[in-house]
Amino acid sequence: MFGTLRARLTLWNTAVVLVLVALPLVGAREGLRQILVSGLDEFLEEEMADIKEEVYERSSKGEDISTWLNTKALNHPRRRLFVQLFSPSGDLLWSSAHTPREEWTQRFQSGTAGAPVVCGEYRMLRQPLDAPRLVIRIGVSTQRASRDLADFTYAVLVIGGIVLVLTPGAGYLLAGRATHPVSRLIDTAARLHPARLGERLPLSGTNDELDRLSETINGLLDRIARYLEQNRKFNANAAHELRTPLAAIRSALEVLLLRDRTADEYKEGTLVLLDEIDQLRGLVNKLLLLAEGDAGQLCPVREPTRLDRIVQTAADMFSAAAEAKGVDLYVGRLDAVTLVADPTALRQVVNNLLDNAIKYTAAGGRVVAEVKCEELSGECALRVRDNGIGITAGDLPNIFQRFYRADKSRARDRVRRGSGLGLSICQAIVEAHAGTIRLESAPGAGTAVTVRLPANDVPC
Ligand code: ADP
Repeated sequence: MFGTLRARLTLWNTAVVLVLVALPLVGAREGLRQILVSGLDEFLEEEMADIKEEVYERSSKGEDISTWLNTKALNHPRRRLFVQLFSPSGDLLWSSAHTPREEWTQRFQSGTAGAPVVCGEYRMLRQPLDAPRLVIRIGVSTQRASRDLADFTYAVLVIGGIVLVLTPGAGYLLAGRATHPVSRLIDTAARLHPARLGERLPLSGTNDELDRLSETINGLLDRIARYLEQNRKFNANAAHELRTPLAAIRSALEVLLLRDRTADEYKEGTLVLLDEIDQLRGLVNKLLLLAEGDAGQLCPVREPTRLDRIVQTAADMFSAAAEAKGVDLYVGRLDAVTLVADPTALRQVVNNLLDNAIKYTAAGGRVVAEVKCEELSGECALRVRDNGIGITAGDLPNIFQRFYRADKSRARDRVRRGSGLGLSICQAIVEAHAGTIRLESAPGAGTAVTVRLPANDVPC
């Protein structure tokens, strides 16, 4: 029953209102009781003082006091005042009119003199008198005060009852208004579906907590939608890239099977197939690597690694290719840098950058690789720059996107084009090492790629 937010809000609202109403009413009732009691006590004190004075004066003149005392008692019909005179030993000597006919009026308990006491429906005060030696007891009925208090209590209970009846209803309506936007959010959220990620939660425009929650969820949906769109494009590109070598393999096989061939022709055909299969394997390996990066499982190996040595080895390895193309591959400043890193992954980054630099630099151009240790920032910087064809400003923002190729003429050349995955893989590896990769380029002027890696706890 109290499973809904609306019901719980109603319950809390009712409880709070009841407490807020009950506390002052109970306090007021107690205040009224005390006022009534102190009014009675004040009356008793005044009457006692008056009676004591009159009794003293009249008895000193030898006059009868009973008539005056009776008149005094009868003067307060509403309060029903009564007066009694006792001997100092407690024997009842005289009682006025209005004295109740109850047993306790025949005596008094010793030790209760001075302060008002309650007996049955009466509040009484007893005080001794020295001359004549008497004990005077006067009392008033508490009935009227009790009735006033009962009337007030009744009014309190009526108000409490009305509040108890009205508050849950009003609370339920208010809670309904307050939770209405939440219900709307729930309805819209329930309609969201991966296939319809264009839908967004509504905003009331009040910028309240619910609006901010909706904005946060909408932001999350934007990111999910972007991610799914990237994923969709990636899958489509991957399927396309895989289909191309597969189609080449199939057509190579079909050509081979068209007629009987000599051993040399079969050998040549098989070499073509092997080349295509190598391309296919390379592409699958790159896709696997990116998937590992997405899952946060890239570069699990961490060991002290000399970055400068990796760069030197790669430069030696690429020197033949550079020379064949007429490109001057030059190793610049190489600081001795030891990183805690995955050496195979770092080798892949360096190879990829050198391969790109040579690939996109025409004969006569120059490629420079260097490693610098930056003690101030605690980082080391690997830099590969060339004076090749460069990249246009329009292509630069997309250059790290998967399957993006800036060189469109080469992209159409199935043999010479790259996969468009090299820089994405470099970025994934560098980020797995908590580093950054930046590419600066201008068409015709060349390209410089800078990789910054934290030097970890191994000193430069
Ligand atoms: P690819 O395998 O196609 O080289 P990359 O991800 O390594 O894939 O590079 C993406 C694109 O960036 C390339 O297609 C190329 O157009 C451009 N590119 C990368 N490096 C350079 C460079 N040094 N000079 C000019 N263009 C470059």
